[in-house]
Amino acid sequence: MSPNRALVKAEDLVKHFVTDLGQVVRAVDGVTFDILRGETLGLVGESGCGKTTLGRLLCRFHEPTHGRVIFDGVDLTGLGTWELRQLRPRIQMIFQDPFASLNPHKTIEQAIGLPLRIRGYGTRKAIRDRVIELMQLVGLDVIHAERFPHQLSGGQQQRVGIARALAAQPDFIVADEPVSSLDVSIQAQILQILRRLQAQFRLTMLFVSHDISVVSHISHRIAVMYLGKIVEVGHVRSVLERPQHPYTQALLAAVPKIEPTPPSNHLRLSGDPPSPLNVPPGCRFHPRCFLELPDECRKVEPDLREIAPSHNAACHLAATKGADAHFPRKLQKGDKETM
Ligand code: SF4
Repeated sequence: MSPNRALVKAEDLVKHFVTDLGQVVRAVDGVTFDILRGETLGLVGESGCGKTTLGRLLCRFHEPTHGRVIFDGVDLTGLGTWELRQLRPRIQMIFQDPFASLNPHKTIEQAIGLPLRIRGYGTRKAIRDRVIELMQLVGLDVIHAERFPHQLSGGQQQRVGIARALAAQPDFIVADEPVSSLDVSIQAQILQILRRLQAQFRLTMLFVSHDISVVSHISHRIAVMYLGKIVEVGHVRSVLERPQHPYTQALLAAVPKIEPTPPSNHLRLSGDPPSPLNVPPGCRFHPRCFLELPDECRKVEPDLREIAPSHNAACHLAATKGADAHFPRKLQKGDKETM
């Protein structure tokens, strides 16, 4: 991978939180990856696996415990407040709960116009014209400009969140579970808008979701996260058709199908994910793994290694015995093709 093709790089990123009782929560526990310019990387995993913390680290809303975030060649972790403020418009976030992210006392026009006013975009009329343009881009009727967030539906609120993020003309957007609080029909509309805007403005995006089928509809590559680590990453087609990590196989087996076939027992996840307060030794997935485990799994943490071109997995059995548990799945209508 040519280094200048990457807009965002996470290098051995770690974020540990310390509780009031002095316990260490290993939310993100050593993550390295790149996001290429104009690429959508889907980040998927169960609740509590560290996805949101990772997204916030990339925006530098959290300070990393260790490691670096490189954005367009600049080490974000080394920047002071003023320098970070200069870069801030280029890195935006779309939040899971659009209502909570909007000021209830500001109209939609004021909410979308705020980043423009901060940047000194121009006269009041220029800002209003730009707000209307942004509203139309995300499919919002202009009559909503004078309304307040509580007067909009969840889908409309999320469109406002997207328009506000775009107002800053970002290069990179972290979309943190942007459709998980919406009805399925609205989810499809929001995904379509994000896909269109990503292509139109050649945005670079980290799309975070607990739902691998949602992620596969919008992403060029998928990274699967488990208990603070990336356990598999690769192009959508490769990960969907030839998942190498048992956890990815289980996530795919759990996706509802039009003609349901019960997932075979060996692909069913049992139990809750272990706590990031108490990470298991060896492979952190071993207490839930359905493969026949060699001793190595309980003792040695597997590295994320390349097991096919541009397809990496962290499993001792990947591309050997584990790969025999392939879960072949043809790419389906709506899944994004590789770039
Ligand atoms: Fe399962 Fe072992 Fe692979 Fe971990 S390393 S996912 S325990 S087979």
